Amino acid sequence: PGLPAARVRSTFLDFFREKHGHLLVPSSPVRPRGDPSLLFVNAGMNQFKPIFLGRADPRSEMASYRRVVNSQKCVRAGGKHNDLEDVGRDVYHHTFFEMLGNWSFGDYFKEEACSMAWSLLTEHYGIPADRLYVSYFSGDAESGLTADEETRQIWLDIGVPPKRLLPFGLKENFWEMGDTGPCGPCTEIHYDHVGGRDASSLVNTDGPDVVEIWNLVFMQYNRDVDRSLLLLPQFSVDTGMGLERLVSVLQGKQSNYDTDLFTPLLHAIHQRSGVGPYSGRTGADLGKVDTAYRVVADHIRTLSVCIADGVHPGMSGAELVLRRILRRAVRFCVEVLQAPRGTLANLVPTVTNILVNISLNDSGLNEYFVRTSGSVAWSLHRDLGFPLDLVDLMLEERGVRVDHQELDRLMAENQKVSVRSQVTLDVVSLAELHGAGVPHTDDSLKYRYTLDQDRYVF
Ligand code: ATP
Ligand code: MG
Ligand code: MG
Ligand code: MG
Repeated sequence: PGLPAARVRSTFLDFFREKHGHLLVPSSPVRPRGDPSLLFVNAGMNQFKPIFLGRADPRSEMASYRRVVNSQKCVRAGGKHNDLEDVGRDVYHHTFFEMLGNWSFGDYFKEEACSMAWSLLTEHYGIPADRLYVSYFSGDAESGLTADEETRQIWLDIGVPPKRLLPFGLKENFWEMGDTGPCGPCTEIHYDHVGGRDASSLVNTDGPDVVEIWNLVFMQYNRDVDRSLLLLPQFSVDTGMGLERLVSVLQGKQSNYDTDLFTPLLHAIHQRSGVGPYSGRTGADLGKVDTAYRVVADHIRTLSVCIADGVHPGMSGAELVLRRILRRAVRFCVEVLQAPRGTLANLVPTVTNILVNISLNDSGLNEYFVRTSGSVAWSLHRDLGFPLDLVDLMLEERGVRVDHQELDRLMAENQKVSVRSQVTLDVVSLAELHGAGVPHTDDSLKYRYTLDQDRYVF
């Protein structure tokens, strides 16, 4: 019951695009482009960082952005925003999630941002206002930052009762992208899953009953390397709402794992496991079956999305983080869920189905898992040892024409880099194959893996 995830997302995008004149910008890949301060894209605003800083190339399309909306693939594992340790223990932090966001670059500011957010949640999604709490920045004397009374007044004018408006300090209500970069005071909307009570003391206490859903950041500063705050050339609005959390609210579930973004995946895991079905326990179950279900479901999404975006498990930086995620996934799969070898790889098609189905409903977001045939061919050859002419045949039989220019480029590139270790990952290849429309059930693609070497071979 409730709005399917695909509709939740398209409603958000349509609201800002059609009703409020925002331009829909596709998600960037999770691998950050030219930003060494980041391991993974951790928020929707990352790709717009040059605009905030006033450094967008004036000839670029980006330079003309005023109002933008998007749904961004985010990974929070490593770096300033690292949720890896929470995943599986709670029901609302993932390593990969989608962040719905709207932006104003020097266009509207606090008042319009707050009233649009409130109208979307309460009128369009129909969330009862008495389940919502709003936090705002209480100031920080040490940094010379004053309380954001302006925002408090805006919420009062919108009709939020004073007892639901709560001040918080730097940690909760001053958002920063990383150790350096754009930042500013924020105001956040929290949802009480239980209702019928005063839950204000539960806001920002990291429990499952009252969960933060939407963050509206008023970008005003740039945090410099020496920690000082410099005023930005223009004030902007940057918002981010976790799709999975919003979907759980709208589907009347207290756990993100009980929504249509996860249930098919948990079901697919159960079909392959040697243990009972997922039953949603937390706490006492720590380290046990349900936690393992959540970890595996979370990690296979992250692995699939990262690999499809070109971050492969490896030996340093983001690649090492991904390798750790792969090891954790394998461990929970084998040791706790008693699933046979190859289980992770088998889950990739379920992940792509869940994510692709959502994307297909939203024009402009079909980027998910779109692979170039050249890189698929190359990975079949490099990772799996298929002769290239056979790869050509295999792909063409399935209606995929190999882009030979791209293939040549990848070959040349690879000759420069010392031949990568023999690591061959079935999740890699299956994510790629599936994206290219190659059915995963192909009998010629039988795989196995050896756990101790993190090695996957067909
Ligand atoms: P939390 O306090 O719950 O850790 P946050 O304050 O770190 O969240 P923001 O940086 O404000 O999160 O990100 C904006 C929104 O993205 C959040 O309000 C939440 O809905 C969503 N979000 C953040 N982290 C995660 C995560 N690890 N998994 C799923 N959704 C997330
Ligand atoms: Mg967090
Ligand atoms: Mg928070
Ligand atoms: Mg937040």
